[in-house]
Amino acid sequence: MNYQKCVLYNRKAATCRRGSAAAIGTVPIVIIFLVFGCARRNVIVKESRLLLGTICEITVSGEEPAKAKEAIQKTFSAVERLQRSCGYDRDSDVSRINASAGIHPVKVDTVVVEIIQESLKTSRLTDGAFDVTFAPLKKLWDFSGGSGRVPSKKEVGKILPLLGWRNIKVTSVGNEVFLAGKGMEIDLGGIAKGKAIDIAAEVLGSAGIKNALIDFGGDIYAFGERSPGSSWQVGIRHPRRKGEIIGRIPIKNGAVVTSGDYERSFFKDGKRYHHIIDPRTGFPAQKSVSVTVLSGCAMTADALATGIFVMGPDEGMSLVEKLPGVEAVIISGPEDSPEIKISSGLKGLKLEY
Ligand code: AMP
Ligand code: MG
Repeated sequence: MNYQKCVLYNRKAATCRRGSAAAIGTVPIVIIFLVFGCARRNVIVKESRLLLGTICEITVSGEEPAKAKEAIQKTFSAVERLQRSCGYDRDSDVSRINASAGIHPVKVDTVVVEIIQESLKTSRLTDGAFDVTFAPLKKLWDFSGGSGRVPSKKEVGKILPLLGWRNIKVTSVGNEVFLAGKGMEIDLGGIAKGKAIDIAAEVLGSAGIKNALIDFGGDIYAFGERSPGSSWQVGIRHPRRKGEIIGRIPIKNGAVVTSGDYERSFFKDGKRYHHIIDPRTGFPAQKSVSVTVLSGCAMTADALATGIFVMGPDEGMSLVEKLPGVEAVIISGPEDSPEIKISSGLKGLKLEY
């Protein structure tokens, strides 16, 4: 699959300068190995870091190791800068936007404006199923493996009036963001990782890397080839069997991003409660099990995967069919009789559930 390039991305955004130092878990793992068996030796350099709350892994193929390692270091630094703007530290741009809700606009980094604009575009496309203003609900739901408490409908009902993407005001000229309602909050957890992946692809490309696989917690962007004549293969994860995949897609230049109900979840009285919230009900979205979106832009794919998950397979797939350069696999239903929808552009894709 070779997708149209991310149109929203601009190189300026890759160098967001604002933001203060954050406590970032840094676990550098460097692996260099040679892949034999093809016509000529192929050097693979692979490094990972704990960033954005997940393991971020970059694999570069067919480059001189020192050049590959330098490019990967630059890439992780750019992702750290994004994390400082979009993360949960008190002085991140997002925290400052939230602290000033209903009071005054806040000047933020260009990259934050760009992410919020894409969020608003996705909110419009998904009719509010994707909505970064779901954030005040996070105080009621704890999907981090903590309490596992299910809030009452009354508790949730009190928070719902604070939600509403139409109350996010953005002025791209002055890079200002304003949440019009007091008590409003945003959370970019459903989109920022996608932007980080786009930034990674841009930084690697600018450093002269021709072949790379960027895997940030299972969300992927690949460009070039794994080895001469053989493409990068991206697995679609089995939503109910950890470590297994249901199929592979060859990717030449594009993103494959998945939202699933298995990511952060807990069980209560036999029912699964997970981290993708339907902003209309305030409860975890019920219609999907996992949604994989393919697009030339990882940020677009990330936001759409979350939004389509909330919309469910029918509405979600009809949206996908309307969007040029976007494909999807949507899994819903119980494990013993799943429904798997595959968009028309992926005809012929073989999946084994
Ligand atoms: P993803 O794995 O990309 O689907 O992102 C899941 C994350 O998106 C959650 O952990 C929340 O931070 C955020 N999120 C949950 N529900 C929504 C929603 N309806 N719209 C936008 N973001 C959401
Ligand atoms: Mg997402």
